[in-house]
Amino acid sequence: MRVLQDSLVAGLAQDRIEQGSPVKFRATRYRIVSASSLCPACGAWTQVVALVVPAEGQETLDACLHYVEHIPESVQSRVRALAPWYRLTAESYWANHCEHCDTRQDEYELHCEPGGAFMPAPGSPAQAALRLSAWDIPEPIAAIAGGVSHDPPF
Ligand SMILES: [Zn+2]
Repeated sequence: MRVLQDSLVAGLAQDRIEQGSPVKFRATRYRIVSASSLCPACGAWTQVVALVVPAEGQETLDACLHYVEHIPESVQSRVRALAPWYRLTAESYWANHCEHCDTRQDEYELHCEPGGAFMPAPGSPAQAALRLSAWDIPEPIAAIAGGVSHDPPF
């Protein structure tokens, strides 16, 4: 996993991203958001998902998790039903895999690079796609994540 010092996260994005020590979240609800992303291995569009939870002490869903290290079985089964390509990797974090060629999609590229599926430029097709698919799950979640984006644009 790359750390913040090594990254070149441009402008506005930088102050919204935390990478480094794993962060624990506990909430009574969460959201699964879906977007489209170009697979760098096969060049096809594939669906990718992310978990969004309320940040500590917040009511609104404003923390988008990446490098998720732990989610409870109840959340895992939701994810398996909605997005079976998002699964635990050998590196012990959850990642999206291409629907076509099964290549693991880089969490950093999806979440931390401007233009990535979960950090779309305003008005970009990726942002429009994001709005199409979001599932609000009114069930508890406890998660440990290696990174979080605050106030995601969706
Ligand atoms: Zn692919």
